[in-house]
Amino acid sequence: MSIRVGIGSDTHAFAPGVPLWVAGLEFPGEPAGLHGHSDGDVAAHAACDALLSAAGLGDLGSNFGTSRPEWAGASGTAFLIETVALLNAAGFRVLNVAVQVIGNRPRLAERRGEAEAVLSAAVGAPVSISATTTDGLGLTGRGEGLAAIATALVSDD
Ligand code: MG
Repeated sequence: MSIRVGIGSDTHAFAPGVPLWVAGLEFPGEPAGLHGHSDGDVAAHAACDALLSAAGLGDLGSNFGTSRPEWAGASGTAFLIETVALLNAAGFRVLNVAVQVIGNRPRLAERRGEAEAVLSAAVGAPVSISATTTDGLGLTGRGEGLAAIATALVSDD
């Protein structure tokens, strides 16, 4: 058996009038959502990239990019479920995923447990969510977008 780690990150710009989805949850009442080929869920996308990275299966773009229009508008949890299916088919089992969301909005603290439950159910293994800000610096600090970074641990047993 070998244990492999992977890393992923994602960033999307805020777009007014778009529903905001982050970490598998909708945040109603937010002034802007995230612009993207899909629902722009940076946490789910970073987690997918970390999982694909751990298994050496490429990345979100190479597996679900614009060449696969059927994935346009897909939810972050749908990407996670399909990503884990790809890993399982390649002989990998997910041990855990850790995601950190970087930005000013939404406030994730009150819904962290809910987000962890949704993403853990999609992955079939523990997914932990944390959040941070950048002291007003950079694109997330200026409120132009939201970013996330993730690591994943998988086993080939
Ligand atoms: Mg993305």
